[in-house]
Amino acid sequence: MKGWEANIRKVVPYVPGEQPQGDRLIKLNTNENPYPPAPGVEKALREMDPDRFRKYPDPASAELVEALADYHGVGADQVFVGVGSDDVIAMSFLTFFNSEKPVLFPDVTYSFYKVWAELFQVPYETPALDGAFGICPEDYRKENGGIIFPNPNAPTGLLLPLDQVEAIVRENRDSIVIVDEAYIDFGGVSALPLTARYDNLLVVRTFSKSRSMAGLRIGYAVGDPALIGALQDVKYSYNSYTMNLPSQILGAAAVRDEAYFRSTVERIIETREWAKEELGKLGFSFPDSMANFIFAAHESVPAAELYEALRAEKIYVRYFKQPRLDNYLRISIGTREEMEALFGFLGRYLGERKR
Ligand SMILES: *Cc1c(COP(=O)(O)O)cnc(C)c1O
Repeated sequence: MKGWEANIRKVVPYVPGEQPQGDRLIKLNTNENPYPPAPGVEKALREMDPDRFRKYPDPASAELVEALADYHGVGADQVFVGVGSDDVIAMSFLTFFNSEKPVLFPDVTYSFYKVWAELFQVPYETPALDGAFGICPEDYRKENGGIIFPNPNAPTGLLLPLDQVEAIVRENRDSIVIVDEAYIDFGGVSALPLTARYDNLLVVRTFSKSRSMAGLRIGYAVGDPALIGALQDVKYSYNSYTMNLPSQILGAAAVRDEAYFRSTVERIIETREWAKEELGKLGFSFPDSMANFIFAAHESVPAAELYEALRAEKIYVRYFKQPRLDNYLRISIGTREEMEALFGFLGRYLGERKR
């Protein structure tokens, strides 16, 4: 072994869902939005002057921060933006989770939390979800060095009611509680207004799902100015110019196009509710999702087999080969037509298999 090998940080990286290339495929594996971004985004893109790319972007991303502050009715000093919510959450781990006590997050949740905890060498514990995949708020009533969970949770889609979210924040006034609201726009009740009353609450959002802009990498956090200031200090100690100029301009344009945003989110919710009925008819069961995906298990056919059969048809869904999750498929909500193709294939496949 070479001397320097002992000094290399060894980590097991997060594995994102695959991004297959080519057309004529149906991609329901990474919870992207099937509809294009707001028309205002296209217009801003066409009007963008490449000469502006000569200079560094605004390190404070002021235009985007102000658009978001207006949208949520908070001060600009309560908003922190980053390169996707993954960047915002990574910065938050680095900034807020520095206790000797364990950070708490559910055992079944966004698998990146564990990767950041390992990377930043933060001790952690993972309270188990209940038998129906629900978060048990009482598990978060113990000594800890911080708390993070998504609401709705991923990959289950289950929403924790606001009073239970608030109870976790209220019972942990000496810890920072991060609520990752990547999917809140699809019908959940946001904890964001609670940031006015609880200085230990940070709410994180992304443009990747409800705003159809995963490719631009935009995420943000809303919280007390003291939390936002601490995040900024860490960010400026790491990389001043995280967000590129196009993302700042196009992100702000998206936020200003409220009507379009509402209408596409409504369509996805409608398709999701119809998809629940269709999945039920095909023999699937699932937690009652409030996100843009459904986490479904079939009554007789193993998920691994269905995953492979779908893949051979170029229909991509997500499969987690892990205890407790390995009989489920996480199916993102696509357009009505994409979902019809999915259910058409499943109907034929399950019918033939029975014979
Ligand atoms: C998709 C997702 C993210 C990451 O979103 P980006 O903004 O694309 O980095 C964070 N948390 C959860 C729970 C997600 O599902």
